[in-house]
Amino acid sequence: MADIFIGTLGGTIAMTRAAGEGGVTPKLTAADLLAAVPGLDPALSVQSESVLQVASASISLRDMGRVLDWANRAASQGARAVILTQGTDSMEETAWFLDLFWAHDCPLIVTGAMRAADGAGPDGPANLAAALRVAQAESARGRGVMVVMNEVIHSAKRLRKTDSLSTDTFSSGTTGPLGRVIEGAPVWFRPAAPSDPLPAPQSFDHDVAILSFGIGQSAALLRHALSAPEFSAVVLAGFGSGHLPADLMAHIDTSTRPVIYCSRCSDGPATRATYGYPGSEVDLQARGVWPGDWLGPLKARILIWAIEAAGLADPRAAFEARAGV
Ligand code: ASP
Repeated sequence: MADIFIGTLGGTIAMTRAAGEGGVTPKLTAADLLAAVPGLDPALSVQSESVLQVASASISLRDMGRVLDWANRAASQGARAVILTQGTDSMEETAWFLDLFWAHDCPLIVTGAMRAADGAGPDGPANLAAALRVAQAESARGRGVMVVMNEVIHSAKRLRKTDSLSTDTFSSGTTGPLGRVIEGAPVWFRPAAPSDPLPAPQSFDHDVAILSFGIGQSAALLRHALSAPEFSAVVLAGFGSGHLPADLMAHIDTSTRPVIYCSRCSDGPATRATYGYPGSEVDLQARGVWPGDWLGPLKARILIWAIEAAGLADPRAAFEARAGV
């Protein structure tokens, strides 16, 4: 039995450029990624598998169901830790998806890279090395799904990609990261929090829309999202702490699906009781729109999708229980 299972999903960490290609594409296997990690402990037993080979914007929720099954199998077979490597573009969504369903003490660590494997100073090997260090630590047990990038350990819930290219792209915002990898071992800034995993997803056919708003935007997309049968829920990425223009409020209809308001800002919560003007959070809630609380639109979308996939009887209570800090 291997100590650590590594599943690779593609992403920049696995990308190189072949002659004649316009840019880098995912090619490297799990074995290639491991071979690039300097000073790998020869006593460490690692089992690796290439699970997907895609750019992370192309990972579907159905793919994530398969990745979750793969990771669950590894944990049930006695893995000490599971590591997934993937693209950074959707990492804040995929890690949160996994965290919502992860029911093991065994840590699940997600990592990737901002620089391609064949460029100058690729960060992939260092990130995988740091993820392995966290994976080997007894103190990582019971901490659910974490993202290790740039030697910083983020919770799956708080992590956001903040810069399209910088190697220092990930931030846990106001609440800060969980810890850092210092001299080859994790240093934790806070204790492990208890988790309340959702039952495994039963359905993958539903879709949740995110609508972002700019000044003067018409009601066309809002009307469509709130009436289209394809959408089982709608997340509104509103101004400031979650507001909509007053003239759009007449189009809000929460009678057929959950509608959730979040902030379109890169940090901070959607408020509940600060503003009372038309289009404010007070107005939205009076019309049945749920507060996204501390979740940004991407995380709120994954949460309501997961709750619907799990078929919970009281989606609102399940959402509220997980949307806080
Ligand atoms: N730019 C991306 C990355 O950092 C590509 C992807 O997400 O697959 O990995």
